[in-house]
Amino acid sequence: MKNNKITIIGAGLAGSEAALQFADAGWEVKLFEMRPRVQTEAHTTPYFAEIVCSNSFKSTLEDTASGLLKAEMKMLGAKLLDIAVENAVPAGNALAVDRDAFAESVTLRIKTHQNIEVINEEVASLPSGKTIIATGPLTSHGLTKALLNLIGEQQLYFFDAIAPIVSADSLNRDIVFSKTRYDKGDADYLNCPFSEEEYYRFVNALNEGEKHTAHEFENDFFHNPDFHFYENCTPIEELARRGEDTLRFGVMRPVGLEDPRTGKRPYGVLQLRAENREFTAYNLVGCQTMLRYPEQKRIFRLIPGLENAEILRYGSIHRNTYLNSPAILNEDFSLKNANHIHIAGQLSGVEGYVESILSGLIVSRVIMDKLPMPPATTITGGLWRHLLTPSENFQPQNANFGFIPSFPGKFKNKMLKKKAYSERALEDMQTFISNFKGQN
Ligand SMILES: Cc1cc2nc3c(=O)[nH]c(=O)nc-3n(C[C@H](O)[C@H](O)[C@H](O)COP(=O)(O)OP(=O)(O)OC[C@H]3O[C@@H](n4cnc5c(N)ncnc54)[C@H](O)[C@@H]3O)c2cc1C
Repeated sequence: MKNNKITIIGAGLAGSEAALQFADAGWEVKLFEMRPRVQTEAHTTPYFAEIVCSNSFKSTLEDTASGLLKAEMKMLGAKLLDIAVENAVPAGNALAVDRDAFAESVTLRIKTHQNIEVINEEVASLPSGKTIIATGPLTSHGLTKALLNLIGEQQLYFFDAIAPIVSADSLNRDIVFSKTRYDKGDADYLNCPFSEEEYYRFVNALNEGEKHTAHEFENDFFHNPDFHFYENCTPIEELARRGEDTLRFGVMRPVGLEDPRTGKRPYGVLQLRAENREFTAYNLVGCQTMLRYPEQKRIFRLIPGLENAEILRYGSIHRNTYLNSPAILNEDFSLKNANHIHIAGQLSGVEGYVESILSGLIVSRVIMDKLPMPPATTITGGLWRHLLTPSENFQPQNANFGFIPSFPGKFKNKMLKKKAYSERALEDMQTFISNFKGQN
């Protein structure tokens, strides 16, 4: 094939998937990877597609969001998922891999591919030809600076300070009420009203909850004078530690939020902000946290109205370089002000191993054969829309059912609902793929 050339920067999960997609389709690929010459703070090996923490690619059950995503990706022809299955270790209903064997297999496939040239260098300036940048959450400082120069400081983030997201249908509507402060604007917020006793019980639980400690490299980064972007990231448990009333005079202040059912001002109010236009998921405002996941489940369920809350995404705070994609990317994931440069992987605003592979897959397919966006009923379609839909507070997302339009009022049983989501998604993805093949 003539003239079909692409440069890919970063041989992580997204970059490796993209490289194999292009190379198998006959494109000439130049793949830059800086390790092991320059290491990131989390990687430890010279291998491509190294997974830096858990060895799990999560559930394979199709009635979970992660399992459904993998099923959709299989239909779309994801290469790294097959390699993961070849290197799987027993893990019940999850796909877990022997991390070294997986990364070695990916590295071997890439290094022996006749269409891929591997260049073992850090890239610190932006190339002029067609390029995919897939350098991940720990993008090197040199390339980060080059990106900053191109897109501007406002469009690049260094940290995730994310609050949990809960599903709308798990909220107790007998307690949670809809209202904006002083009734100004549309009643887009939901409110969880605390009594005095409930408030202090919650604050005490935050103080006593088991927390993650920041990695040393994150501490270094927080204090790096070159990068002073650590704003609005204070964990809720740190605010609680500063004083037992800090929250109710700050993020949980109840003024202007009288409970319409009692006419009284609660002792404190936790607000919930809609995560999507379908109002299927809500963000716990101000609850960015370093609490461990089981503790988040236990403690956030102490909030009145959230007794049975289903957490769709847990809160966290960590170094995570990512772009404000909806503001700066075209529909083909290229930069609006440099459209030969495409962005893939976690840098573009997906979160997670499998989601990063998905991103490498879709960006390469969009470039090669203009794959359109799959239906909104699929997890792939939901994640894809997330990357391109403007949002005041854009943050990386992993696969979750909050992306999928619900069946209004149809299911009381959560398992049946998820099964129905999954069946609809797989059917819609099948139709989408058949239609696409029919047109090409
Ligand atoms: C500490 C940490 C723990 C995580 N744990 C999990 C987890 O348990 N489960 C989960 O699902 N997700 C986890 N993630 C999130 C995320 O899914 C992974 O980071 C994932 O690997 C991202 O894929 P990626 O392809 O975007 O980037 P990466 O897989 O990180 O790949 C990027 C590659 O680019 C290279 N690179 C960077 N800069 C340059 C440059 N200038 N020139 C050349 N090469 C460069 C890097 O060396 C790396 O190989 C974690 C992230 C971090 C940071």
